[in-house]
Amino acid sequence: MKTQKKSWIQSLFAYAEGEKKKMLLSVVLSVVSVTVGLAPFYCMYRIICLFVEGGADTAGITGWCLWALLAYGVKIVTFTLSTGVSHNMAYHVLEGLRLRLADRFLHAPLGDVENHTIGEIKSMMVDKIENLEPPLAHMIPEGAGHVVLPIVSIAALLCIDWRLALASLVTFPLSVVCMMLTMVISGKNFQTYDQSNAYMNSTIVEYIEGIEVIKAFGRAGVSYEKYAKAITDFRTFVVKWLSSTYLTMKLSFALFPSTLIGTLPVALALAAQGIITAPTAALAVMLSISMVGSLAKLEVFSENMRQVEFTVKGLQEFLEMPELPEPKERAEVPSTGVELKEVHFSYTGRAEDEVLHGVNLSLPQGSFTALVGPSGGGKSTVAKLIARFWDVSSGSVEIGGVNVRDMPLSQLSEYVSFVTQDNFLFRCSLMENIRLGNPKATDEEVRAAARAAQCEEFIKKLPKGYDTLAGEAGKRLSGGEKQRIAIARMMLKNAPIVILDEATAFTDPENEDRIQQSIAALTKGKTLLVIAHRLSTIRNADNIVVLKDGAIVAEGTQEQLLDACPLYWEMWQAHIGAKNWAVSSAAKEA
Ligand code: ADP
Ligand code: MG
Repeated sequence: MKTQKKSWIQSLFAYAEGEKKKMLLSVVLSVVSVTVGLAPFYCMYRIICLFVEGGADTAGITGWCLWALLAYGVKIVTFTLSTGVSHNMAYHVLEGLRLRLADRFLHAPLGDVENHTIGEIKSMMVDKIENLEPPLAHMIPEGAGHVVLPIVSIAALLCIDWRLALASLVTFPLSVVCMMLTMVISGKNFQTYDQSNAYMNSTIVEYIEGIEVIKAFGRAGVSYEKYAKAITDFRTFVVKWLSSTYLTMKLSFALFPSTLIGTLPVALALAAQGIITAPTAALAVMLSISMVGSLAKLEVFSENMRQVEFTVKGLQEFLEMPELPEPKERAEVPSTGVELKEVHFSYTGRAEDEVLHGVNLSLPQGSFTALVGPSGGGKSTVAKLIARFWDVSSGSVEIGGVNVRDMPLSQLSEYVSFVTQDNFLFRCSLMENIRLGNPKATDEEVRAAARAAQCEEFIKKLPKGYDTLAGEAGKRLSGGEKQRIAIARMMLKNAPIVILDEATAFTDPENEDRIQQSIAALTKGKTLLVIAHRLSTIRNADNIVVLKDGAIVAEGTQEQLLDACPLYWEMWQAHIGAKNWAVSSAAKEA
């Protein structure tokens, strides 16, 4: 259910939920700091009065100097405290945001996450969230102070003489006009800036990630040029943007804090006519000088505001990504058979893109089912729907008769182990990579799983054994070895339903044999679904299901299918042919 969209300011404050007290404290301290900062001007005024009135003695002057010093001290201390508190608050908020975003990615449909490039996500999680630090730590508390100071100063001028207050504001209208002009000229440039920046980010990630392919194919030039062009485009755009607003922006920057232009002549004129005294004229001038710093800061902040608005809006888009709805309460699941009922599914949500057209599939508890068929037929999609990486468009996926939507994702994940084609290893030791299957497992249990998954032999050959970092090992491990690590992980997890999306790549006979052994150990007694490319591995399946173009065309045992399903017969022949060819060419090489 979509809630009313919050304005970006509300969102910014909502991110600081739980940190509000700190924010308030830092605002109060900042306001105290700038207000107290006016006191030295008053002390100066009193000293000038002493001279003019002829009562200047060392004691009097020293007294006022000490007061000024004290006020200055309070100003510095309160300002320091305010920034301390606000930075503490800001980094707590950034931490909360980063954690919340990561959590969002976990609960969103996989497709919504994969729609974003790694560069985009990295730029959001790292850079853009970091961009919120200045507004939270500086703009809000200091901004409050810098708003209060001119108000107090103008109020003080008003108390002296209304004409002085008015004079201090004389450049204000013109600078506002310049500021508005700048905004109009800038227009939608922030958006382009952002897109350009995100594109630059994703091209560099692509360049580095693809560096192996780029080197292998000698295409370094093309890919590098893509990156270089992104950088050049970004530079051209920013320079053009800046120069288009240069004049109006600088004018407004110059005019806005120019309070003295009005106050100085008016103060002098009033003093000359005897309406105010000379010391009061000096005080008026000092008050209007005191505003300059604050007004200049406010101007910079208002520039930054739009940047912040843009960041917050970008964040909102990620933070409001739809989540897969899930109940809080665990469901009662009596068995671990899986059933797909009339499942229709489209990745885009549009009917014309449908990839599964009414699939009915039953995996009885403890049975071994194989899913075969031409590439692109929807096999992996079926597997991902059982693990609920996406929700079906219509129909249902049930475990033990319970719709997977009616159990928490964490409960579903206890039931289902999914070994995919890309076996991702995290940047920690191999021991920890396997332990991911069950964080509570002891080292000995991890080793036992590794042994059963046929991993121990190659792990022991690594210089640091189980302590080898996956990053270091990653490049040395073959695809088949990585897959066996993934299988060991799943063994520790020991879920009752196992889905294997078999990889085509790792077909060397030695590896295949070992993988088969480790899979056999993993799947004993489990409800097993294997997506098979090498049909020899699933000969013994209880049920072989042939999926083509998103629909089931036949199912049965190997013998039944060889008789009844021409497509399966063809696939089997092709498989045997390929196998014989591999064997004979291997023999030739030897
Ligand atoms: P198989 O595993 O049988 O080779 P898949 O289930 O991977 O087939 O794909 C079925 C269809 O869905 C294909 O047409 C494929 O292009 C499409 N498809 C797969 N993944 C996605 C995705 N993330 N977004 C959009 N379409 C997809
Ligand atoms: Mg597939």
